[in-house]
Amino acid sequence: MQVLVTGGAGYIGSHTVVELLQAGHSVVVVDNLCNGSEVALQRIEKITGQSVRFIRADIRDRQAMDGVFSRHDIETVIHFAGLKAVGESVSRPLDYYENNFYGTLVLCQAMEAAGVRRLVFSSSATVYGEEAPVPYVETMPRGTTSNPYGTSKAMVEKLLEDLVSANARWSVVLLRYFNPIGAHPSGWLGECPQGIPNNLMPFIAQVAVGRRERLSIFGDDYPTADGTCERDYLHVVDLALGHLKALPAVLEPGVSIYNLGTGQGVSVLAMVNSFMRVTGVDVPYLITSRRAGDLPAFWADAGKARRKLGWTAERGLDDMLMDTWRWQCKNPYGYR
Ligand code: NAD
Ligand code: UDP
Repeated sequence: MQVLVTGGAGYIGSHTVVELLQAGHSVVVVDNLCNGSEVALQRIEKITGQSVRFIRADIRDRQAMDGVFSRHDIETVIHFAGLKAVGESVSRPLDYYENNFYGTLVLCQAMEAAGVRRLVFSSSATVYGEEAPVPYVETMPRGTTSNPYGTSKAMVEKLLEDLVSANARWSVVLLRYFNPIGAHPSGWLGECPQGIPNNLMPFIAQVAVGRRERLSIFGDDYPTADGTCERDYLHVVDLALGHLKALPAVLEPGVSIYNLGTGQGVSVLAMVNSFMRVTGVDVPYLITSRRAGDLPAFWADAGKARRKLGWTAERGLDDMLMDTWRWQCKNPYGYR
């Protein structure tokens, strides 16, 4: 299948491009490199031995997107491109709605004009909102999101549902990711946050490699077993493979929604202790106050993806941590 991957130079996109190429699919990457790297694309070529067709373009640029569809015979779009920093979205809501919502709108307009109506979208567990009971199941309604990033994801889901309702020739798969971590086992691809990492895993890795003094654990007074928050961490390669498993689903008309997670919550303290055990490296930490907006604990009901797509997250926590550490050691400053 010829697949257009938007955001293919980013963290999840680059891992997905590797798996697509290795499975024999043909790939075109569109990325504006605002948070991705051309080095990631070179590394994909190194891992797969195949060349990557790359177009540096912004999904908000209708003319550029029309050009992509006219020059390439695209059958399906996997749409990763977007901004993803929750805290930044609170201070820059216009950028988030423009990039994530308007960007997807323009992409869909270009797809409609080109007659390409199959889309796999990177959604997030955040759309379940603040009050949903755990585990999150796909049959639950979208809830109240607490920041512009989450709201932009919920808005795109609704846009895509409306599009399918209006035109039965569209087929859309909404993949709700839980917490992807880890890196390609080669150590050549991984997460490359700009500035101080917001997320737990890259922060732990940067403390371990000596780039930061210590980790702040945001609160140990939550109603969880050890008082720290619990999340459903899954290996980025498993997540990438979930997209491959979703490709047959996007051949059927309509909208389908799948959680991609392991189905298990792991606490922040358990993450830190497991990292130290697996790598043998010390991670100094300090318990600090809660981070605004954090939910105590959530994880996926991963049953639907298993039953309908035949997908389960197979890599365990030790693999996620060891692969992160290999990536961090080989690339202490990421792709820079
Ligand atoms: P990332 O920032 O590493 O990758 C996104 C890529 O999109 C980057 O390469 C960036 O340069 C590109 N991009 C951004 N805006 C663009 C635009 N307007 N035009 C063209 N390219 C553009 O992020 P990621 O972690 O790989 O996430 C991929 C997708 O998955 C995002 O939509 C994100 O919201 C979603 N998601 C991520 C997580 C996570 O924890 N990483 C969780 C849930 C959902
Ligand atoms: N966290 C932390 N210190 C950090 C970063 C994150 O204690 O420096 C905690 C955070 O409070 C949350 C968990 O780690 O409970 C996962 O945070 P992350 O930002 O990675 O994912 P999200 O909160 O978006 O699910």
